[in-house]
Amino acid sequence: MKAVLMEARGDAAVLRYSEIAAPEPGPGEVRVAVKAVALNHLDIWVRKGVASPRLPLPHILGSDVAGVVESVGAGVHAYKQGDAVVVNPGLSCGRCQRCLDGKDNLCPQYQILGEHRWGGYAELVVVPVQNVLPKPASLSFIEAAAVPLAFLTAWQMVVDKLQVKPGEDVLVMAAGSGVSVAAVQIAKLFGARVIVTASTDDKLEKAREVGADETVNYSSPDWFQEVKALTGGKGADAVVDHTGADYWEGVIKATAWGGRISLVGASSGYQAHTPLSHIFYRQLSIFGSTMASKSRLFPILRFVEEGRLKPVVATVLPLSRAAYAHQLLEDRRVFGKVVLEPA
Ligand code: ZN
Repeated sequence: MKAVLMEARGDAAVLRYSEIAAPEPGPGEVRVAVKAVALNHLDIWVRKGVASPRLPLPHILGSDVAGVVESVGAGVHAYKQGDAVVVNPGLSCGRCQRCLDGKDNLCPQYQILGEHRWGGYAELVVVPVQNVLPKPASLSFIEAAAVPLAFLTAWQMVVDKLQVKPGEDVLVMAAGSGVSVAAVQIAKLFGARVIVTASTDDKLEKAREVGADETVNYSSPDWFQEVKALTGGKGADAVVDHTGADYWEGVIKATAWGGRISLVGASSGYQAHTPLSHIFYRQLSIFGSTMASKSRLFPILRFVEEGRLKPVVATVLPLSRAAYAHQLLEDRRVFGKVVLEPA
C-alpha cells in the first residue's frame, strides 16, 4: 500500500510517500480503506518529537480517518466489507476501572491512533472494531474525517470539564484551530454567548461564520481588556485555551471571578507565568484536558448528522502531499481542518 512514513523526527521533510506492506487485521480488528484522513496539531508534535519522543521509527501519523471497511479479523461480526465508517482515535484496554467508568482517556494503556500506533496517512489502517462507528450518511468522507479528534477534544472541555450553561460568556482562544472551531459550535449548542480571539481579521470573520458572537484580535498585548469590555467588565465565565505561555496571563485576566479555564495544549510554550493571586483571590478553576471518552463520539456524530455541529474543512490535498499539508498547518495559514485523500 501507499503510505506516508515518518522516517525521523524533524521538519516536514521527514515525511516520505512510500510503498510498504499492508497491515493485517488481527482478531477483533478491522482493516479500513482510508478515504480521507485529517491532520491535527498532534501530528506535528509527534513529528517533531515533542509528543511520544521515544516512538519507534518509521511511524505512520494520522488520527482522524473516514473510510470503508476493507476486511475484518476473526470474531468481527458488527461490520462487514463495504461499510462506510468513521474511526474513533482513542484506544484503551476496555477492562480497567477507568475504562468501565467511561473515563477511557485516563486508562493506563490509553493510546491515540497515529500517535502511539500506526495511523491513517495510508491507503489502509487497522483498528479494533470498538473504534469504528457508522459514517453519518449526510457527510462526505472528507467532512467525516474532520470530526473525531477536534470535536472529541472540544466536547470534553466545553461539556465535561467547563460544564458550560445557557447564557454564560465563553471565551475560545485562537479561533482558527480545529479544536477551537469545534469548541465555538459546542458552546453555542449549550446556549452560551461565545467570544473568540484570533490574530487576523480574516480568521475572526470566519469564526463568526461558525457561530462566534463576538471577536477580539489578540495581537495587541491588552487584548484581555477587550474581553472584559465585551462582558460588561466581568470577564469570561469559561475559557477554552491551548495558546500557551504568550497568552496565559491574559487568559487568567480575561476570566471572570469564579470562572473556569480548560487547557488542552500550549502552542506558544509550556513555561508560563501564573499570577497565583488571581487564582485563589478570584477563585478560578483550571482544568487540564486531553481527548475525551470514546463514548462522546456518539452524541457528536448525532449532532453532526442533524447539522447542528459542522466540521470545517480548510483544504483537501492528495496523501502524497502530506509534507506540504503539515507546513500549511504549522504556519497556521488555514482556518479549520486540512484533509488528505489517498489516490
Ligand atoms: Zn483501561
